[in-house]
Amino acid sequence: MSAIDPLPPLRAVIASHGLSARKSLGQNFLLDLNLTAKIARQAGDLTQCDVLEIGPGPGGLTRGLLAEGARKVLAIEKDPRCIPALEEIAAAYPDRLQIINGDALEVDPLAHLTPPIRIAANLPYNIGTELLVRWLTPADWPPFWQSLTLMFQREVAERIVATPGSKAYGRLAILAQWRCTARIVMSLPPGAFTPPPKVSSAVVHLEALPEPRFPADPAVLSRVVAAAFNQRRKMLRAALKGQAPDIEDRLIAAGIAPTERAEQVGLEQFCALARALARP
Ligand code: SAM
Repeated sequence: MSAIDPLPPLRAVIASHGLSARKSLGQNFLLDLNLTAKIARQAGDLTQCDVLEIGPGPGGLTRGLLAEGARKVLAIEKDPRCIPALEEIAAAYPDRLQIINGDALEVDPLAHLTPPIRIAANLPYNIGTELLVRWLTPADWPPFWQSLTLMFQREVAERIVATPGSKAYGRLAILAQWRCTARIVMSLPPGAFTPPPKVSSAVVHLEALPEPRFPADPAVLSRVVAAAFNQRRKMLRAALKGQAPDIEDRLIAAGIAPTERAEQVGLEQFCALARALARP
């Protein structure tokens, strides 16, 4: 029996189901259930929420989320070897855990969830950023989820919460902070995982704001920010040359000096630029 539920400890689960970690699937497991319960608590009050978990693996965080009272957890796992272990958890929490054996990039979770919805995951490193960008860039706001509580490599976490003028500041910071609050809520050393990854990790908690901080068309903002940071060392009038023939005038209309570099430009100014570019 474990510290948080009547199920066996995770090391025993891994041994009995032969779940040797696969690098190709980004498998670095969390085996300390006190730690996974702590991560689950960072996601907020789960008792009235459905929770989407990507990549449950042997189920450490899944058990944390259920022990913390999640109304329902939908767990999408690509590795079929993990499914029998997850089914044992489902049996211990009747009607509260739904497991899908599939690729999170392809499954539509909305068909299985009822709002309010929170997302919590120790993400596979190879698809973590892609999933985050998808969740942050729907055409309409607010999104289907209320909050994201996600484990990333420390360096990615720092890019999400970065402020202008720092090396980590770029597209991820702008997309995240435009329509969410974003904080690093936990730091984890490599030794917290089995096997330990090469780098440290951090949990980021994002709460969706009811509306964006500044008005802008999401597609235009995404495009201009991607172009600006693709050539982050260039002056904006050069980096954004392809965005409009009169880019200098539009930068000035947005209150940005054309000789400025992307790294120095704040969220409010990027939104003003997106509006200036959207005008005929
Ligand atoms: N949540 C578990 C934990 O904290 O111990 C495992 C986390 S491990 C970093 C990432 C998990 O994502 C693995 O179980 C892996 O098999 C799964 N995974 C990798 N690619 C996936 C994909 N495209 N869709 C769904 N799950 C995926």
